[in-house]
Amino acid sequence: MNIIFLGPPGAGKGTIAALAKEVLSIPHISTGDIFRAAIKNETPLGKQVKSILASGELVPDALTIDLVNERLKEDDTSGGYILDGFPRTIPQAEALETFADIDFVINFTVERDMIIRRLSGRRIAKESGKVYHIIYNPPRVEGICDITGESLIQREDDKEEAVVNRLEVYERQTEPLIEYYTEKGLIRNVDGSDTPEKVLASFLAVIGVDKS
Ligand code: ADP
Ligand code: AMP
Repeated sequence: MNIIFLGPPGAGKGTIAALAKEVLSIPHISTGDIFRAAIKNETPLGKQVKSILASGELVPDALTIDLVNERLKEDDTSGGYILDGFPRTIPQAEALETFADIDFVINFTVERDMIIRRLSGRRIAKESGKVYHIIYNPPRVEGICDITGESLIQREDDKEEAVVNRLEVYERQTEPLIEYYTEKGLIRNVDGSDTPEKVLASFLAVIGVDKS
């Protein structure tokens, strides 16, 4: 199954994808994670996108589309995948149609004040890639990753100024995709405000997968 995870920043797309990929045995492809890894490794791509990510603006369509097109050619995608954070614009969605067949677009819905609470408390571990929340999903030891023992950090774009900009970018450029995919009959709405386990269960139910 080829699935898109849509929804505002902080809706829980990455968190649910990390759980769902184990259940469905398909890769979780996050364009945000790919860009952050490139920045961490100081690759040419990383240098190109670093300031864009910090500001909360979007990376240019052409670059992002090429990146995803190449990623979807890898062997691990043959049994399906979860695309998290792509497409984010209408041109990206149109381009995706030329190289992928999408089965479902999951629209995670969460109220704005909860989004702000989630983003302001999000902490990440750069090495393990694990995502925490200081209140909703804390590590066993404060500020330390359960898996690697590394110190947790706050994403540059989770700081207050960038968050406001990212929500505006989402409303202007990404929200129109809900209508785009509704017209194609692909949208499935999932209430993202419940616990991760319950959101995962709702997601599996809408795609017709029995977890037991
Ligand atoms: P997205 O990938 O949509 O930007 P994340 O999955 O990174 O969102 O989640 C944003 C923050 O909210 C993280 O700190 C995460 O731990 C927390 N979070 C995610 N889903 C839930 C949930 N269902 N309940 C409570 N907190 C959550
Ligand atoms: P995310 O981890 O999904 O919140 O993405 C973090 C940042 O990466 C975004 O704010 C953008 O700057 C960039 N990014 C991720 N996915 C895309 C995309 N599909 N198009 C453009 N920029 C993206």
